[in-house]
Amino acid sequence: MKDSTTDIKERESSEEPLQPERIDLGSFTRPRKRVFIFLLLATSLLLLGVAFLLWWVPYVGLANIHTSVPVILAFLLGCVVLVSLGAVLTLVFTIIRGKNLFFNRRIRGVVIRVLFPLLVGVGRCFGIRKSEIRRSFVAINNQLVMAEAKKVQPEQMLILLPHCLQNHDCAVRITGDVHNCKSCGKCKIKNLAALSEKYHVHVAVATGGTLARKIVVEKRPRIIIAVACERDLTSGIQDAYPIPVFGVFNQRPFGPCYDTDVNIDLVEKGLKTFLSN
Ligand code: SF4
Repeated sequence: MKDSTTDIKERESSEEPLQPERIDLGSFTRPRKRVFIFLLLATSLLLLGVAFLLWWVPYVGLANIHTSVPVILAFLLGCVVLVSLGAVLTLVFTIIRGKNLFFNRRIRGVVIRVLFPLLVGVGRCFGIRKSEIRRSFVAINNQLVMAEAKKVQPEQMLILLPHCLQNHDCAVRITGDVHNCKSCGKCKIKNLAALSEKYHVHVAVATGGTLARKIVVEKRPRIIIAVACERDLTSGIQDAYPIPVFGVFNQRPFGPCYDTDVNIDLVEKGLKTFLSN
């Protein structure tokens, strides 16, 4: 997870115009998934083209060595392409159907570790902004986490919040314990502390990636509901793997890292989705 103090200017330049969060969990991720699916299919086509070239170029020359060499090479490359396409289609169907087909956890790992960095590079070729790809990545991750449908006990869940949710004027120290909040109502920390009490789940505020990692090691959650910007959610999801992280974007009416806001309904729906009855 990135430190919250790093490179605020970069965030400002990459920020998207504020979009109100959707309340419904099902529709919450839908529009953002398209970017990821598009990049996934574009990357597959690109790999297909590369595979064809890898076959075709030697074919012209290899045929002169032995007539069967081009056929063997075509068969091997065809196998690689088929396996890759199979993996991509499995992922696309999992995303579209919202259900765990097979290997969901492994697919989540591949998306987090391999596909995201690859798709950022491909997205750059198409002129798609990194923040847009991050949003899409978080949406896809949420879909895969929901498809796993892992139900946990309250003590196995952690709500992880960014420090910028706290009102800038507030002198109360909430990083050690969110329940120090005096519930004055100037920021959503009050509502989030109340949610934690209502559902008996851990809640913690992290000032940066190092503290966030420390909290995760201490609490040992089986699922994390994380509130943050695109950038911190992306790095948080990658850092926390294999622990599933359900990401909720914060809202930034005053710009990044300052008096940010969050849709409490969405956080509560996330809690209900993963808590066992
Ligand atoms: S709600 Fe809590 S954290 Fe927010 S400003 Fe009031 S006392 Fe501070």
